[in-house]
Amino acid sequence: MRIPSNRICDIERFAYAELEGIYPQEEIRGFLRLLFEEYLGWDLTTWLLSKQKTINQSDLLKINFAIKDLKRHRPIQHIIGKADFCGMTLTVDENVLIPRPETEGLVELAKDRCPSPKRILDLCTGSGCIAIALAKAFPEASITAVDISEKVLEVARQNAWNQGVEIELVQADVLNDCLAQLPEYDLIVSNPPYVRELEKPRMRPNVLDYEPHLALFVPDNDPLLFYRRLAEIADKHLVTSGLLVVEINESFGDETAKLFRAHSFETTLHNDFKEKTRFAVGRRG
Ligand code: GLN
Repeated sequence: MRIPSNRICDIERFAYAELEGIYPQEEIRGFLRLLFEEYLGWDLTTWLLSKQKTINQSDLLKINFAIKDLKRHRPIQHIIGKADFCGMTLTVDENVLIPRPETEGLVELAKDRCPSPKRILDLCTGSGCIAIALAKAFPEASITAVDISEKVLEVARQNAWNQGVEIELVQADVLNDCLAQLPEYDLIVSNPPYVRELEKPRMRPNVLDYEPHLALFVPDNDPLLFYRRLAEIADKHLVTSGLLVVEINESFGDETAKLFRAHSFETTLHNDFKEKTRFAVGRRG
């Protein structure tokens, strides 16, 4: 199907007709706002005042492709190559997890609990969203971000550059490399993979079919795989009273707290904005 005319109100009608049933109305409206902003440079007010305007053939084609992609559940952030996080616009592609609004809570928690860190380590950094938000909050801090994949680090590098912050990027496998070269930190943060394979049937195709499984999944029989390593690394690389702040699977709050306490971390659990247990904070004694 092709958009029948190049008038804005017809494009909107076409988008709703094509996408309803797949996405709620509000989400479709959000997609249109982002597409008009990206391809036409329009803000919300311009859009609302331009319903009878027509657009050129090349822009129409781009919007037509975008609607086709959305119909196939491709995430809007991949279509426009961007995602918002903590007031920043970050570059994303298929190699990195799209930053989630929940994860902004991890940044807030870290800022709140650790008001003046000098050295910060972010493990499994992905797009760099957490490290970059912390670099902005703590311009004096020196920040290291680690990821297993060079392709991923390239995205983080570009984001740090675009945001005008300096971050040391290190390629390493958090699970298997010893990381002995790293110094001590006041704050270690991480949003590691934590979704069990058995949770796949509950996940939406925009996540399952397009986002990197490497960043999402852990084996069903070892959901705390990454957290055991994070606790070991924090044992060696956190200063006394330093903080380990991590995002967790809502089903494993108690187990994560137990694990951190077994490493003598004084541990608390915290909810995200949807009131789900989403973060654990461990203080090294
Ligand atoms: N919260 C993400 C999701 O449900 C998962 C993030 C992660 O595994 N670290 O898609």
